[in-house]
Amino acid sequence: MTSTAPRDRRRLDAFVLAVCLSGGAVVATLLAGALSFAPIHLTSSMIVLSLALFLGELRPVKVARGEEGDDEITISSTFAMALVITGPLAVAVAAQLGAALFDDVRRHKPLKRVLFNAAQYALTLAAARGAYVAITDQSFLSATPHMSSRGIAAALAGGLAFFVFNHGIVGTAVALDMGARVVQRLRDDVRFQLSTSGVLLTFAPVVVGTMNETELLLPLLLLPILAIHKTAALAAERQQQALHDDLTGLPNRVLLQDRVTRLLLDRVHSAHPLAVMLIDLDHFKEINDTLGHHVGDVLIREVGTRLSIAVREGDTVARLGGDEFAILAASMSSVDDAVHVAERVVSALREPFTIDGVRLDVQASIGIAISPEHGKDVETLIQRADVALYTAKEERGCWAMYSPESDRYTVERLALLGELRAGLETGQLTVYYQPKSDARTGVVLGVEALARWVHPTRGLLQPDEFIPLAENTGLIGELTFEVLRQALAQIATWQRDGMRLGISVNLSARQLTDLDLPRDVATLLGEYGLPAAALTLEVTESTIMADPSRTLAVLRKLAELGVCLSIDDFGTGYSSLSYLKRVEAHELKIDKSFIIGMSHNSNDAVIVRSTIELGHNLGLRMVAEGVEDAETWRLLRALGCDVIQGYHLSRPLPPEQITRWLTDSKLRVALEDELDDELDTLVPEQRLAL
Ligand code: C2E
Ligand code: CA
Ligand code: CA
Repeated sequence: MTSTAPRDRRRLDAFVLAVCLSGGAVVATLLAGALSFAPIHLTSSMIVLSLALFLGELRPVKVARGEEGDDEITISSTFAMALVITGPLAVAVAAQLGAALFDDVRRHKPLKRVLFNAAQYALTLAAARGAYVAITDQSFLSATPHMSSRGIAAALAGGLAFFVFNHGIVGTAVALDMGARVVQRLRDDVRFQLSTSGVLLTFAPVVVGTMNETELLLPLLLLPILAIHKTAALAAERQQQALHDDLTGLPNRVLLQDRVTRLLLDRVHSAHPLAVMLIDLDHFKEINDTLGHHVGDVLIREVGTRLSIAVREGDTVARLGGDEFAILAASMSSVDDAVHVAERVVSALREPFTIDGVRLDVQASIGIAISPEHGKDVETLIQRADVALYTAKEERGCWAMYSPESDRYTVERLALLGELRAGLETGQLTVYYQPKSDARTGVVLGVEALARWVHPTRGLLQPDEFIPLAENTGLIGELTFEVLRQALAQIATWQRDGMRLGISVNLSARQLTDLDLPRDVATLLGEYGLPAAALTLEVTESTIMADPSRTLAVLRKLAELGVCLSIDDFGTGYSSLSYLKRVEAHELKIDKSFIIGMSHNSNDAVIVRSTIELGHNLGLRMVAEGVEDAETWRLLRALGCDVIQGYHLSRPLPPEQITRWLTDSKLRVALEDELDDELDTLVPEQRLAL
């Protein structure tokens, strides 16, 4: 189950050998005794007890245990102990070894295990008999005539010796096999064992007392013993349920934590690291919402199955709830093993799922924390795996390993996220506006809406401080809706005051896969009584390329509404001209990094020139953003650029200030055609100064 270090392996081998040798010595002594001086007279109660022992051994109750999977409880120990009391020891040993051998061979256990098991029983029974006769002053080897009142105390002492030897020997072997600390493990285990097999052992003197009257009473005694057996089975089943997830049957959070804790305790002296990984499915909520809970449930179950296949033997896959899974990777020789497991999980989930004939693509993000490097207790490990998970999502990678830097970052960001959610509700989000002007005349054609967050303690926050946060958490939908609402309200106000302006609003990647977006936009336009053409939506080229098939569908619907589309930050991403054509955009915004540099960097100037030509050939309106000085404006004008935007005209301004800026000069908001002729005689600076 677990790989064991060579040193532990040697200790285990030595221990097994010692048990086999001493058990063998017990058996040899008994054989010699039986052959030489004490012929055994089998009584009917010995036969009945042996039969009961045999049947008990064949029908064990499986018990799901926290750490090492399954354990078994048999009722055979009651009868084995009864045989120890009645003696002779040889009968007890013969019956127990016979039953155990039969069972082990039936289950094809390896020879080493069979021998160890037999030797272990021989030692246990000899110890129990030893304790019994020490108190009753009877012969170690021969039969006990009857049980005295002192015999009851002796029987309990024998039972205790039985318990100590049986679980001491087996527990030590299991602990050595797992590379765990022996004393620690035995101590952890003793309560469970006492409450199950310990209780069964106390029944032995009752069985013997009853049998002394008549064997016919044994069937009556079987009832309470079977009841204990049954109760243990029920308790085991309940424990199984309490520790496992109903839907998938996988271990739940409690069992996962228990296993991690045990391994951490066991491994104090072990050189092997262990890893806790948290796995979160990326689009589960959408699948659940759109296709229904049935599909969601089936998907979760299939994901559980794939995860279980992807991990290595000895690793634990748990479901923590919702679409959250966890893996405990135990037997690792190095940290790289965790990465391999993570990559296997990623590729296992990459293959699409087909549920009810629907093909579903599910991606997962994985956060990894390693012990002892990242934490020495289960809470810390899970919390840090969670931080790593957040990083994985943020960086849009498949998996991420915990790092202290990301932690500091994340705690702060998570706090900010909570504040953003509240801030959106309490109206802390506001919109600044930056004019977009005709490159030839300087006439203002419209404004771009840019989000700002008036944070109660941090002051005014720029979009790069909160937009990525909103994008990664789904808050971006609400945020954009709020920007759209404020922007459209502002445009409606300006229109009422006689200023005909267009408005540009930025969209994020996530929203372009939202099939409801066109409907929401149409509703808002209707509410403010604005024509669709007044609105331009700006999307970056990388946004479109992220998921072209879905994005193009949303963009087409928006275009059908009559909304203008603008490709933002053009030149920075990976673009495909063929998509550009299919998007049916109206406008291309050359990224400000080229514009800012074009007056002193000839490369930039060449890029700008050819981009303008390309855009014009595709029938697009060309916009230059980041125009910071008159020289750049002049150059752009010469290159035939259509629209300019930048600090040279104005920085983004809050509503009252931009309104003042716009009305201060009639020219800036005047109708183009009326002023065209006049303007031609003016240089750009003069026009702006008007
Ligand atoms: P963007 O869409 O490319 O917006 C233009 C950015 O360039 C704005 O930064 C603007 O202030 C800045 N800028 C304008 N003129 C100049 C100039 O002459 N020189 C320089 N150096 N910069 C100039 P801002 O307002 O900080 O916005 C940054 C980005 O945040 C935006 O880039 C946009 O991608 C995003 N953003 C802003 N508001 C929203 C929103 O409501 N929704 C979404 N999804 N994203 C938004
Ligand atoms: Ca923009
Ligand atoms: Ca831009």
